[in-house]
Parts: sequence; structure tokens; C-alpha cells
Amino acid sequence: MYKAKAYSSASATSPLASDTISRRDPTERDVQIEILFCGICHSDLHYLRDEWHSIMPAVYPCVPGHEIVGRVVKVGSAVTTFKPGDLAGVGCLVDSDQTCPNCRDGLEQLCPNQTLTYGSPDKHLGGVTYGGYSESIVVDERFVLHVPPTLDLAGVAPLLCAGITTYSPMRRWGNIKGKKVGVVGLGGLGHMGVKFAKAFGARVVVFTTSPGKKEDALRLGADEVILSTHAEEMRTHAGSFDFILDTIAADHDINAYINMLGRDGNITLVGAPEKPLAVSAFALLLGRRSLSGSIIGGIAETQEMLDFCGQHNITAEVEVIPIQRINEAYERLAKSDVKYRFSIDMGSLKAE
Ligand code: NAP
Ligand code: ZN
Repeated sequence: MYKAKAYSSASATSPLASDTISRRDPTERDVQIEILFCGICHSDLHYLRDEWHSIMPAVYPCVPGHEIVGRVVKVGSAVTTFKPGDLAGVGCLVDSDQTCPNCRDGLEQLCPNQTLTYGSPDKHLGGVTYGGYSESIVVDERFVLHVPPTLDLAGVAPLLCAGITTYSPMRRWGNIKGKKVGVVGLGGLGHMGVKFAKAFGARVVVFTTSPGKKEDALRLGADEVILSTHAEEMRTHAGSFDFILDTIAADHDINAYINMLGRDGNITLVGAPEKPLAVSAFALLLGRRSLSGSIIGGIAETQEMLDFCGQHNITAEVEVIPIQRINEAYERLAKSDVKYRFSIDMGSLKAE
């Protein structure tokens, strides 16, 4: 066991503050990683503030962070796919049972016995797992991803959650080339959704509540941007979409977007608002539309996504911050005031 610097929160209402945590020494299958950048996902904020209490009560102290990129410093004796000096990524998962039907199908994100990067029981040290707002992490090599060396690392970190969460449902929907695809909410997930939809050859329309993001949406690859607060703009697109990805982090009228779908269109929810959404049966019935959910992606698919990003030079648009500005970043994230992901330069922890 060794000590690592980290930032943790002691309760749903405490700020994140400097802390020291324990990490296990790498076992034979483990990879020890020096963390270089960690993205700030809205899920970190939901969890830390215990907004998902009824589904997933938060455990404190909590060290969030599941968009991790770093460099391998040590590997266990049985590790075959990483060596010291390699770049490495870690997302939302650090373990699963490997035997259930979901794991066998490469869907570790649906394994009932998965270990999340933070807040899950820690099988090695007891207590709970601690995430990426830390200088170092130790992870089973099966849950460590290879990072294309050509990409900017601060912008790679968010791919480990925001990237795979938007890539996976678009892939699952089938070939969206030439299809009319909507992305609802231009935040961390939404802006990655735009980049992937564009790369897959879709006609991309962004729905935003923020007039100040219109220009950016076009720059990021959208063909059109709709201000969702503008009833007239919304009306002109009714019934016209093949697929919509809803990334909104808060309560909203989902029926407004279901009604945007054409016949047999699908809307997939990836946003995880605190409270249940009210769905109009008629919005679904009329048009034989469907509503789905999706959560991150499996490990093999996450590697596929990273390789795709390497080939197409795709990274997140990031605002890099030192860890000392984390609480201010959370306040801004809660107000949708980030373009489009905070990425923490973990080298800043050395000053603690
Ligand atoms: P984010 O950066 O805060 O983006 C969310 C966007 O939603 C905002 O930028 C804003 O876009 C829009 N929005 C926020 N409040 C709104 C409101 N009251 N009404 C309408 N639109 C609103 O968050 P994120 O990191 O992308 O995460 C988005 C959601 O996905 C969160 O709930 C998160 O927990 C969840 N998530 C799910 C998965 C999964 O596996 N399913 C993975 C990661 C995250 P505009 O300014 O453009 O309107
Ligand atoms: Zn996330």
C-alpha cells in the first residue's frame, strides 16, 4: 500500500479539499498509473451532491473522477499489454465479474457485479474505490485503455466517459450516415455527440438553451442549431428526426423532443436528471417512436472509440484548470458555464 495525494469531499455539502488516500501496490495483473489529466463529468457533481440518492447513495469521503488519462509507472508480473512509460486511460469501470452474460458479450457496463472507479466497495483495501482526482491509481489491466499517442492528452481524458457515452448509442443505432440526428444539450457529452455524429456522416442538429453556444455548435460540426426556448424554431422541425441523443442533466420536457422524431425514430437518453421525467404515451404511440437509455460502453468498445478518435483526430474541447480551482469549476458546471469540459491538470496536485 502507498499514499497518494487526492481531492475529496466529506459530505454532500462540503467543498472538495486536499486529502491523502491509500492505493494498493500493484498485484500481478495491475497497472499503476501516474494521472496526468482528469475530466470533470456532470455525474461527478450529481454523485458528490448526492442528487442520485434514491438510486445510488453517495459514500463519503468521496474522491470523484472517471475520465482519467496518465502514464504507466509500474506493472504487475502477469501484465502483458502495458509497460512503464505507456499512455493509459481509465473510465467509469475498474472491475466486473467477467462471467455474467453481459460481460461475456463485452458489455461490462451492464454487469451486476461491476466495480465503479469511485464509490464502489474496494475488494482489495476495503472501504470504497477512489477516483481520478488523485495523482495515482492502480487498475486491473483489463480495464485500462490504450491512448493514441498523437492526441492532446487534456482533451483525451473526457473521451473516457463523455466520449464513449455518446459514441456507443450512435453506433448501436446503426449506420447514421445521411440520417437526421439531433443532439440535445451542448455540454460535455453533447459536444462529443456532435463530433461523433458528424464523423459518422449524419446531418446534425443541436438543441440548446444557451444562445451563446450557437456559433460554437456550428464550429463543432452541427449543420443547424435550434434554440429550444424558441417555440417557432422548434415547430419547424417537428416529426423530422431519425435519432436524437438527449444529454440534458436536469429536469426538462422530453415530450418536446419525442415529438421531433419521425416514424420509428428513436430518442436515447444518456442524461441522468435527479428526478423522473414525465413521458407522454401519445408522443411515443403516434409515429411508433421509441425511447431508450444508454450507459457508457464496454471496454472493447471504449478502445474502439479511442482508436477512432486517433484516426479522426477527435478530442474534447477543454478548459484546463489546476485542481485548486475545482470548487469554482463545479459551480460553473452546475450553471452550464463550461466550453465544453473541464480537464484537471493533475500535475497541480504537487503543490499540495
Ligand atoms: P454538462 O456538461 O453539464 O451538459 C449538460 C447540458 O445540458 C448543459 O450544457 C446544457 O446545455 C443542458 N442543460 C442543463 N440544464 C438544463 C436545463 N435545466 N434544461 C435544458 N437543458 C439543460 O453535463 P455532462 O457532463 O454532459 O452530462 C450530462 C448528463 O449526462 C448528466 O446528467 C450526467 O450525469 C449524464 N451522464 C450520463 C452518462 C451515461 O453513461 N449515461 C455518462 C456521463 C454523464 P445547453 O447549454 O446547450 O442547453
Ligand atoms: Zn462521466
